Amino acid sequence: MPNEPYLPGDVLGLYFLSLSVHGLVRGTDTELGRDADTGGQVLYVMDQARILAQQPEIQLVEVLTRQVWDKRVDVSYSEPREEVADGVRIVRLPFGPRRYLRKESLWPYLPSMVDQIMRLVRARGRAPDLIHGHYADAGFVGAQVAKILGVPFIFTGHSLGRVKKVRLLDQGQPAEGLEERYRFSQRIEAEEGALETAALVIASTRQEVREQYQIYDHYQPDRMVVIPPGVDLSRFSPAAPGDGQGYGAIGQEVDRFLADPGKPLIMAMARPDERKNFGTLVKAFGENRGLREKANLLLVMGNREDIREMPGGAKRVLTETLVLIDRYDLYGSVAYPKGHGSEDVPELYRKAAASGGVFVNPALTEPFGLTLLEAAASGLPVVATNDGGPQDILEACKNGVLVDPQDSDSLGRKLLEAIDYPDRWKSWSDNGKEGVHRHFTWKAHAKRYLSEVEKALGGLPAEEGIRSLSRRRRLPRLDRILLTDIDDTLTGNSEALEAFRSALEGAGSNVGFGIATGRTLDRALEALEELGVRAPDILITATGTEIHYGEPLVVDRSWERQINYRWQPWQVRDSLLAMAGVESWDEDAGTPFRLRFRLDPETGPNLAEIRRRLRRGGFRVIATLDHETDLDVTPVRASPGLAIRFLSHKWNLPPSRILVAGDSGNDADMLSGETLGVVVGNHTPELEEIRDLPRVFFAERDHAWGVLEGIQHYQFFDDIRIPDEDNL
Ligand code: UDP
Repeated sequence: MPNEPYLPGDVLGLYFLSLSVHGLVRGTDTELGRDADTGGQVLYVMDQARILAQQPEIQLVEVLTRQVWDKRVDVSYSEPREEVADGVRIVRLPFGPRRYLRKESLWPYLPSMVDQIMRLVRARGRAPDLIHGHYADAGFVGAQVAKILGVPFIFTGHSLGRVKKVRLLDQGQPAEGLEERYRFSQRIEAEEGALETAALVIASTRQEVREQYQIYDHYQPDRMVVIPPGVDLSRFSPAAPGDGQGYGAIGQEVDRFLADPGKPLIMAMARPDERKNFGTLVKAFGENRGLREKANLLLVMGNREDIREMPGGAKRVLTETLVLIDRYDLYGSVAYPKGHGSEDVPELYRKAAASGGVFVNPALTEPFGLTLLEAAASGLPVVATNDGGPQDILEACKNGVLVDPQDSDSLGRKLLEAIDYPDRWKSWSDNGKEGVHRHFTWKAHAKRYLSEVEKALGGLPAEEGIRSLSRRRRLPRLDRILLTDIDDTLTGNSEALEAFRSALEGAGSNVGFGIATGRTLDRALEALEELGVRAPDILITATGTEIHYGEPLVVDRSWERQINYRWQPWQVRDSLLAMAGVESWDEDAGTPFRLRFRLDPETGPNLAEIRRRLRRGGFRVIATLDHETDLDVTPVRASPGLAIRFLSHKWNLPPSRILVAGDSGNDADMLSGETLGVVVGNHTPELEEIRDLPRVFFAERDHAWGVLEGIQHYQFFDDIRIPDEDNL
C-alpha cells in the first residue's frame, strides 16, 4: 500500500479518481482481447485519463484498479503504482485473493476496495474532486466512496446487466444457470446504486441511453449525457502510399496463412466473446462463393497460448471458429494469428486498407465499438452490426454499411459489395478518415466532459470533503474502537455481559467503545443504562442515520448533512401511505432520518415491489423489512457500514483498528470490508452469506461471550493481529 503523500499540500488543480476494477489494466502495451475482461473499456479508461490530465484545470488523474499477483499474467499487474504520463498514474490496490479473477468473482471483495481507497485518500491528505466509476463493479465502489467522502460521482456503465440478462434469455439460455455464472442480481443492484448516486452518467451513444439506461429504476434523463470516446490519432492513421509493404512481423504472420495474400482482406478484430459473433462471420464467408474467390478473411481474436486452458467463453468461441474454418475448408483463405502486441494493431488495419479490404464488426450488440473508429482512422471502410455505436459512427462518418448480424447471407453479400466497387470504397475510406477527425477525437471528448461536469456540479449543494473534515477536532486519545450492536449481541446472557463489562473496564484508555444499533438514541441509552456498560465514545443509532459522541452526546452534523442529500421524508411518507397495507407505525422510533411503517404482509406489496415503487417515484432511499412487518426507510447515503467508514475517515482511524460485532442480517453491511468483523455464535442465518469473507470472524460462543472471543481473536486490546494476514 503506497502511503507517501503524493500531492503537494497546496495543489490548485483538480484531482480525479477513475475506477476500473476488472481485467488487466496498464498504461502501455495494453493486452486488449487477451481475455473476456480486457477489452475496449481498458483503453477507454486510459485514453480518457490521459486526455483529461492534459487539460490545464486538472492536476492529477489516478486510475485505481486491482493488484494481481499471478504467474498466469504479467508481473506489471502487481506493481502498486505505475506512472503513465504527466499527471496520470495507475494505483493497484491489493484486495481479495492475489490471483487474477474474472469479473463475476470480484463482488465479495469490493467492500475491501472501498476501504483501501479511503486509506489511500487519507495518505494523500486530500479528497478527490471527482470520482468516475466504470462498469458495475467500479460503479458500486465509486458510489460508496463518493457517499462517504461527499464528493461528486460520475458513472459510465459500458454495458449493463439488465440488458445482457434479457438478451441471454431471449437467446434461449436457461434462467437457472445465469445467476450463478453472471451474478446478475449483484451487478444490477450495483448499477442501480451507481445510477442513483451519480451526478452525471456518461454514455457513448444515444442508443445506450434509450435502450440500456432507460430500463433502470434510477434512470434520470437530466443526468445523462452522450459523449463519444475518441480514437488515438497518433496511433491510427492511413499508410502513406508505397509505405511499408510488409507491415512488419505481424504482416508476415498473416500472410503465412494465405494462399494468395494479395487479395483484399476482410478483417475482424475483437475479444473471443460470444457477443462478437465470429461464427456468423465465418459462415457468411464460407458460404459466399464470390467472396471466397475475391477476398481473404482475417480474424484477430486476442492472444492465445493453449485454447484448452482458456476460460470457458473464450474456449467455446475459439473452438467453434476453428471448427467452422475446417467445416467450410477455408484453409489458405483465412488467417487467424495466434498473438499480437498493441503495436501490431495499427499495422493490421493499414494492411487491410492497403489491400482494398474492409473491416467487419458482426457483433450481436455493440455498445460502442472502438475498432470502428480505429478502422476509419486508418482509411479502412466498415461493415458493421446495426446497433448502438456503429449506428452513430456510420451516421457521422458515412464510411460503410450496417448489417443484420444474424443474417449470414446478407452479411456475405454486403461484404462482397463493399470490396467490389472501387469508387464507393474510396469515398468510404476518405469519409472515415475525415469523419473521425471531425467527430471522434479525445480532445473533443475532454472538452465536453469538463463542460458537462461543470454544468452538473454547479447545481449541487456544496458538500463536505475530507479537507474540512480532517481539520476538525479528533477523538484524540483513541487508537482503536470496539463497536458493537446491542440486542442479542451484548444482551442475552448476564454472565457474559458481566465479563464483557469488566474486560472493557480493564482495557487501556486508548480503546474506544461504541455501539451501532437499530434503536433510536433514547432507546439505546435506556438499554445501555440497564446493562450497566460504560458510556460509549460513539453512538451510531437508528440504523446508521445518527452519530453522537461521548457523554454530552454531541451530534455529528456533518454526517446529518451528508445523509440529507436528496432526502425527502414527507414525500416518501405520502407515497408509502398511499400503498395498500402500509401504515404509519412506532412514531417514537422514527427520527428525522428514519421513517417507520407497519406492513400488512397479506394485503401490502412485497419489499421488492415497495422498492420499485419508491425508485419509480424518484426517491433515493434504502427500504428494509424486519420480521415481515416492520418497514424502515432511510436516506440512501445512510447505513451502519457507511457511518463506520465515515467515522474511520473523519477520525483518522484505519478500518483495521475498528472491531465491529453483530448478530443479524442488518449488521452485514458493517461487518464486511476491512474492519475487523465479529459475528456472535447466536447469529441469524442471513449472516452465513458473509462467512467466507476475510476479516469476518465467526465466534463459537453466543452473545457477549462471542464478542469477547472476537476481541481475543484479534488481540484487540493488545497488539492487534489479524490471523492469516501478516501485515497490519
Ligand atoms: N483489440 C485488440 N486485439 C484484439 C481485440 C481487440 O487490440 O484481439 C482492441 C481493439 O483495437 C480496440 C479494443 O481492443 O481498441 C476493442 O474495443 P471495442 O470497443 O471494439 O470492443 P470491446 O472489447 O470494448 O467490446
